[in-house]
Formats: sequence, structure tokens, C-alpha cells
Amino acid sequence: MSARAFLCVSIDCECDKGPAWRTRRPLRFEGVHQGIAERLQPLFQHFGGKPTYLLSPELLRNAECVERLASFGGCELGTHLHGELAEPGAFEPEVTRAVQRDYPPEVERAKLAWLTQAFRGAFGRAPQSFRAGRFGIGASTISILDDLGYAVETSVTPHVDWSQVSPGLSFVGAPTQPYHPDPCNPGRPGPGRVLEVPVTVRPSALSRVPLLGKHVEPRWLRPTRTRGEALVALPGASGGPQRHVSQCRSRRRGEPLRRHRRRGATHRPAPGSAAGVRATRRRGLRRSGGRSRAPRLT
Ligand SMILES: [Zn+2]
Repeated sequence: MSARAFLCVSIDCECDKGPAWRTRRPLRFEGVHQGIAERLQPLFQHFGGKPTYLLSPELLRNAECVERLASFGGCELGTHLHGELAEPGAFEPEVTRAVQRDYPPEVERAKLAWLTQAFRGAFGRAPQSFRAGRFGIGASTISILDDLGYAVETSVTPHVDWSQVSPGLSFVGAPTQPYHPDPCNPGRPGPGRVLEVPVTVRPSALSRVPLLGKHVEPRWLRPTRTRGEALVALPGASGGPQRHVSQCRSRRRGEPLRRHRRRGATHRPAPGSAAGVRATRRRGLRRSGGRSRAPRLT
């Protein structure tokens, strides 16, 4: 039996940045109007890809960006939080450094609620997919996202320790395949309803070398400091815990699978998008009476 692979392409979308990620002043959005609208989106349409664009607050405030993004077909739009730019207490920093898990839980909730409402106001529907700026999810994030109606969270970067960015922020040992997370510890499987779709990251071959290994950067499926051939080969590299997929699968068996209908969601995610993968799994489970193959994301 051949396995069916799903590839989710998710892209954080922000205002234009210069060297050292410094925000260009005044705010500019050539990345949206040229990078996405004129280059990326036509490329995805040519190859039949359905990307997920995760939108930072400053894009949701900009009417031209909203109009441009709303005009795209065959993609999913979601949200991306850089806390400085979201109410309460919003401002435009030179460099976005905030990590949402470092806010008091009530502040993190308020900023996520504002971001979600801003998306609703811009596009007239609820977002279903989310990624934290700086991958900074914490012990409150999953429960807040669940309360706000999100279906997919995608901030987990397996094998990466960000504790120098924020104390305790580490995804070492996290599953590399989609899973339902422990709301208190999202890098581990648990009873959370939101589906975690980890970023594709693989350990370097040198990571097992004593002493040296922990200083070797893992390999990411993204076009930064790498070659195209290496990216193509990366998903086939040892991804580790396939068992987490079967854990997800067994947990979903017998569930009523009515969550979205109950919440009255009107937006159907694009097939192949992050939220679309969850919808595909749900439809497959319905058809097979709960005996569906879970998708393998690479
Ligand atoms: Zn970002």
C-alpha cells in the first residue's frame, strides 16, 4: 500500500524588513504586492500548490494589503502574532523581539483575541491556522487558540532549543509529524483539540557527536543557507517518531468530528493548506468510519 504525503507550505507575512530584520520606515509592503502577489502566488498556482499565508497585525491594518490578499484564490489565510504590533499596547518596534509566552496569560489572550478579531474584520471569516512570532508558544497558547476557534497551530520547530530567546522555549524531542499537543507543554503530545503541525526540521548528521552535537544547527525545509537538492532530500531524512501519528489517529477515532459545524465556520480551507490537512483527515475519517490513514507531513 502506497502512502500519501501531504506538503503544507506556510509563510509568515510581515511588513518589509531590512538588514538585521529592521523594519523599513515608513512601513512598506512590497513583500505582499510583489513578492507574494506577483511572484509566489502565480508560482503556486502553476504547480497546484495551496500555501498558507500567516498574517502579522500590520498587514491586517493595511487596507491595500487586505484587498490584495483577499483577491487570492487557492490559498489559506491565517494569523501570525508579533505581540508588539497587537493591542493592547500596540506600537511599531524597530525589530520585533517579543515572545508571546513571556506575556502574562491575560495579556497573551488579549493580543491573540485582538489579532483574531482584526482578521475577522478584514476578511469576514474566522482564521483557522496560527503561528507565533519567534515560534514563541507557551503553556497558555494552545488553550487560548482553542477558545478562539483555531484548528491548527504551527509554531513547533522540532530539534530546536530557543531557550536563549525565551527561558524554557525548546522543542527538542517534539514530534516531527502532526499531533494533538499537551496544552501545558505544546512540544509534547496530549489531549489538546488544536492540531499541531510542526515545521519540517531534521537533525544534522553531526548532532549525535558528543559535545559538538548540541552546537550543530538542525536542517530546516526552507531556502535559507542551503541548496535546492538538499531541500528535496530533507523530507526523506530520518524524521523520527512516526508513532506520534498513530497516537493522533487512535485519539480521533470515535469522535463526533462536528467541531467546525458547531462553531459555524463558513470558510472551507484550501485542500493542502495547513487547516485543509485537518479537514482532509476529518473527511477521510468520516468515509472510513474512523479507519483513515493519517497524513504524513514533510
Ligand atoms: Zn514573524
